[in-house]
Amino acid sequence: MADIVDCVVVGAGVVGLAVARELALAGREVLVLEAQDAIGTGTSSRNSEVIHAGIYYAQGSRKARWCVEGKALLYAYCQERGVDHQRCGKLIVATSEAQRAKLQDIARHATANGVDDLVLLSGDEARALEPALECVAALHSPSTGIVDSHGLMLSLQGDLENAGGMVVFNSPLAAARCQDGGILLGTEDGTELLAKTVVNAAGLWAPDLARKFEGADLSQLPTAHYAKGNYFTLSGRAPFKHLVYPVPEVGGLGVHLTLDLGGQAKFGPDVQWVDRADDLVVDAARGDAFYAAVRRYWPALQDGALAAGYAGIRPKISGPGKPDADFVLQGLEVHGAPGLFHLLGIESPGLTSCLAIAKAVRVAVENPAV
Ligand SMILES: Cc1cc2nc3c(=O)[nH]c(=O)nc-3n(C[C@H](O)[C@H](O)[C@H](O)COP(=O)(O)OP(=O)(O)OC[C@H]3O[C@@H](n4cnc5c(N)ncnc54)[C@H](O)[C@@H]3O)c2cc1C
Repeated sequence: MADIVDCVVVGAGVVGLAVARELALAGREVLVLEAQDAIGTGTSSRNSEVIHAGIYYAQGSRKARWCVEGKALLYAYCQERGVDHQRCGKLIVATSEAQRAKLQDIARHATANGVDDLVLLSGDEARALEPALECVAALHSPSTGIVDSHGLMLSLQGDLENAGGMVVFNSPLAAARCQDGGILLGTEDGTELLAKTVVNAAGLWAPDLARKFEGADLSQLPTAHYAKGNYFTLSGRAPFKHLVYPVPEVGGLGVHLTLDLGGQAKFGPDVQWVDRADDLVVDAARGDAFYAAVRRYWPALQDGALAAGYAGIRPKISGPGKPDADFVLQGLEVHGAPGLFHLLGIESPGLTSCLAIAKAVRVAVENPAV
């Protein structure tokens, strides 16, 4: 006989934990099934840890709306819970006259997304903030910041547990069937659970996992694509206090400089399409392209200063050369299975948006036809 649970969230990354917390705080009984033996071992610990302002995303998209809402929720949450973070701001730099006009386009786009605090700076004004910078102009985003993503996940897990929920580790969901009375879930060790609500927050694996739900219409499920982002770390201290981004490139935000909360700088992520979700080794040879990209805005970067760091893989649902897809939240109206929700393509700004995504999932769970 299957054990009966109210809600099951699959995946204990930052999104799964935020969703589980939100549902538990709304009074639901929540169990998180996590394949690994700890929280946040996936993309949630392989990113830039940037609290994005919401500048670039398509107007009206979920990415744009959930990023702007999520940013406000996240700053308030970190403040309230003592999660380490810093509103350090970022500079988007134009390194040629051709890019100067691009900055104005970016500022207009940001305003339409509700990001109304960007300030256009001349090259000299930007250098007054960051003397080591080479640029003809820059956009200053004061609401961009950084967060300790692991501290955030621990705090979300704590809230979940205080509200009566729990995370069950080493429990990969292996099979699922949508039937009368709920969704029957089977973990790899043979445990069976019957759940009223199931939220698939399995990150890179979410589209493949979604295909395992017998009885649901699978025809609208996107194919998973994997775009690896490699990081190179800087030895020694960086002479920057702000995050520094070039004008964006296709598929990513360009090789940017981010700082961690200890002031250590890293550069990346680049964009490397790969075939597998676990292809996480950084090829040191890619460093040459990093030197060239970084020296466009920081010419003083010394030879030999960069070391291969880590990589994360973007859970894409559109392939190389295709426009970026929006975040997807699939429910009954798409696949016909009551109580089942898939979160697909939760790439950047998923960390920034996690609390807004969680709210949207709660609303969808409480109003299934919406
Ligand atoms: C290179 C890179 C840089 C990024 N930078 C930023 C940034 O600066 N700011 C920002 O806002 N966002 C950023 N992001 C995006 C952000 O990291 C992700 O959106 C977010 O971490 C996704 O969290 P998640 O919980 O959906 O997925 P994950 O963290 O991948 O969690 C999914 C979990 O599901 C588990 N799982 C998978 N299959 C199963 C199964 N069958 N059964 C049980 N458990 C399962 C996995 O083990 C994993 O723990 C970046 C992403 C990348 C790749």
